Amino acid sequence: MPAEPARDEPGRDVPPSVLRTIADNLHVLEDRSGRSERVVAELLIETGRRPDEICALRYHCLRQDAQGKYVLVYDNSKANRPERRLPIADATAQLVRGQQEHVRATYPSTSLEQVALFPRDYRNRDGKRPLTAVNFGDAHRKFIDLIADQLCDADGSPYPAREVVPYSYRHSYAQRHADAGTAPDVLRDLMDHRSINTTMGYYRVSEKRTRGAIDMVATHQFDGQARPVLGAVGGLLSHEHARLRVGQVAVPFGTCTEPSNVKAGGHACPFKYTCVGCGHFRSDASYLPELKAYLQQLLADRERLLAADELQDWARRKVIPADEEITQLRGLIRRIEADLQDLTDADRATIEDAVAVVRAARATVSLGMPQVRPAATRKRDTDAVDD
Ligand code: SF4
Repeated sequence: MPAEPARDEPGRDVPPSVLRTIADNLHVLEDRSGRSERVVAELLIETGRRPDEICALRYHCLRQDAQGKYVLVYDNSKANRPERRLPIADATAQLVRGQQEHVRATYPSTSLEQVALFPRDYRNRDGKRPLTAVNFGDAHRKFIDLIADQLCDADGSPYPAREVVPYSYRHSYAQRHADAGTAPDVLRDLMDHRSINTTMGYYRVSEKRTRGAIDMVATHQFDGQARPVLGAVGGLLSHEHARLRVGQVAVPFGTCTEPSNVKAGGHACPFKYTCVGCGHFRSDASYLPELKAYLQQLLADRERLLAADELQDWARRKVIPADEEITQLRGLIRRIEADLQDLTDADRATIEDAVAVVRAARATVSLGMPQVRPAATRKRDTDAVDD
């Protein structure tokens, strides 16, 4: 017997730009094939269930839990697990409600226990026979072919229509959750996977994309004097990539490559964190908001300290931000902004997407060296836990 196809493989999701185009054109599917096909497509996108699971939904598939929130009750046909419950948004529940009304109006004499939520159109006078995944797949293929020339990747390049199949929406649903930081055990439950290894694959895709985004933004990195630092990250070997990534640590508006500070996880700057004037400092477009906020803070501090009568001149000179720092910071911000302006529209859009990914990941990704704490500290912590 040939092995079952591993359809839950990650990495086969549809890019968000393509998904948006499909969502905007669902009326084409409805005009061509019918209302049920449109609602099936919407539910596939919203719930990430398999096509046969959505097509086979019964009329009473919508329930409310103890808190009054909606759940979709479906049968996991692949793993033979009936009556699975998936939490869904109110808007998704309204889609199901609308379809229920449509079915009730179309088959008024069939009992609601027997009528399908998506009855097929032919040889189905009482509405008990559901649309099949094959029927829906045919309608979906023709719909996607009709809008094929509108499907574009994030960088504007055409996206192959043949890669958009009903199952793609399940991959996209899982990838959206993994990218948004949903915990693996929660995503495993949402996807109803038998093995956590299948679920973890989506996180590996997230990590790979984040790494790609970090590398892309790093090609537009500058030092404190606004000089480009790294022109060709793409040409580095994999171990050089790893060295680059562990050989830096995050500072508030960029990264630091000073070895002793990196080793100490960013807690041992030998130069009192005067980063803008330090040769070990790097920054890029993903830090623009922080750089601008720091500039505003320096300007405000300077005004406040100049107006402080209670300070003697020597004390004021000691604490007031240096003009050189402000000028250099302004230059760095202008250089990063000019670098973005010099790009083509497509390249700028790519960098902006990469910046969004890097900023989203920054809250959880540490670029520093993992630290081993002194034995005494570890022992104290262990004792506290044992207590
Ligand atoms: S001042 Fe230099 S060494 Fe210190 S944290 Fe900033 S970049 Fe690193």
